[in-house]
Amino acid sequence: MKKVITDVSVSGKKVLMRADFNVPLNEKRNITDDSRIVAALPTIKYVLDNGGKLILMSHLGRPKGEVKTEFNLTPVADRLSTLLKMNVQKMDDCVGEHVEETVDHMKAGDVVLLENLRFHKEEKENDPAFAKQLASFGDIFIEDAFGTCHRAHASTVGVTEYLPSAAGFLVRKEIEYFEKVTKDPERPFALMLGGAKVADKIPVIKNMLGKIDFLLIGGAMAYTFLKSRFKGVGASRVEENMTKTAEKIFELASINNVGVFLPKDHVVARTIKETAKRKVVKEHIPDGWIGLDIGPATIQSFKSVLAESKTIVWNGPMGLFEMKPFATGTRELAKYIAKLDATTVIGGGDTAAAIYQMGLGKRMSHISTGGGASLEYLEGIELPGIAALDDK
Ligand code: AMP
Repeated sequence: MKKVITDVSVSGKKVLMRADFNVPLNEKRNITDDSRIVAALPTIKYVLDNGGKLILMSHLGRPKGEVKTEFNLTPVADRLSTLLKMNVQKMDDCVGEHVEETVDHMKAGDVVLLENLRFHKEEKENDPAFAKQLASFGDIFIEDAFGTCHRAHASTVGVTEYLPSAAGFLVRKEIEYFEKVTKDPERPFALMLGGAKVADKIPVIKNMLGKIDFLLIGGAMAYTFLKSRFKGVGASRVEENMTKTAEKIFELASINNVGVFLPKDHVVARTIKETAKRKVVKEHIPDGWIGLDIGPATIQSFKSVLAESKTIVWNGPMGLFEMKPFATGTRELAKYIAKLDATTVIGGGDTAAAIYQMGLGKRMSHISTGGGASLEYLEGIELPGIAALDDK
């Protein structure tokens, strides 16, 4: 068990907190979705309410180790000031003398936001000297950015060498749910995977086969599995080099007594366009047609499997959901899962975005804030940013 923020004293302390403020911005640099900032508020408020001095750090976008104004954290500081109804002072850099002086003069209840960590290449390199400088601003370190916990960077792992370290409330919830589903899930357990990249999901399937009862596969990745079973997939996206692996998965699933469910009908079109003429086909996709969503019979069959499940983990959309005509499978299943009396854990990224878009966020047990990190957790990999925190 890792220490959490409530296990350490923050009163009068300089609390160095890693948050995930990597928010989407439009051309005018207005934040289009502030949910990542809002999600960090419970930990932020806890520190302030308990007399801590808060030094926040985050990355934004991919400035590739250089100072690029289009990636500065000014919009984040502004939004945080509004949300907290107080002045959040943003630094021009994340290290250096000016930061040192400012932090030295902080009072209990003050908040300082360091500039984008990734303006320095040393952040991603987990450079020890850089990590030591960051750590020098705090008395304790709080990790609340689950989305970067699978990366050993200076602000996630490096700083823990120098400071007592604990999880914030967001990371605590992620650990709670992912520990539960990977170590002690209530059965029957359905793992539903979709999205495009097969290779990303194979290690997840391999690690989870011994713990799940049902494996449901939709999205583009299903066509690689269907092809390995000699079904016609037309011009759908297939990863040819993964068909052998798919065959192996069927074998392993049968050894583990896991029921595998693949699409039995498809929404297809000849081109990937919102306006393309589309139709539903059963079983085989004819030449020249592209499978872009699961069909109605598949939705029905997936629903009946999910209805039997007490634990559901879902990662990856069931179709090309960014285009409305191909979003039905993803939407229908999201609505259905939201109503079930089961532990429902949604992997981050696209699936999480789709569920928030539909206003179903509050109806799931847990929606992960990390796409890559949640997949690695399900792969059974110990995330470096979590492993580095102090044990209770
Ligand atoms: P991934 O990053 O592997 O989870 O893939 C997510 C992407 O898969 C999303 O952008 C979806 O639009 C895409 N996707 C899902 N199903 C299909 C499909 N049938 N054909 C093409 N792309 C798809």
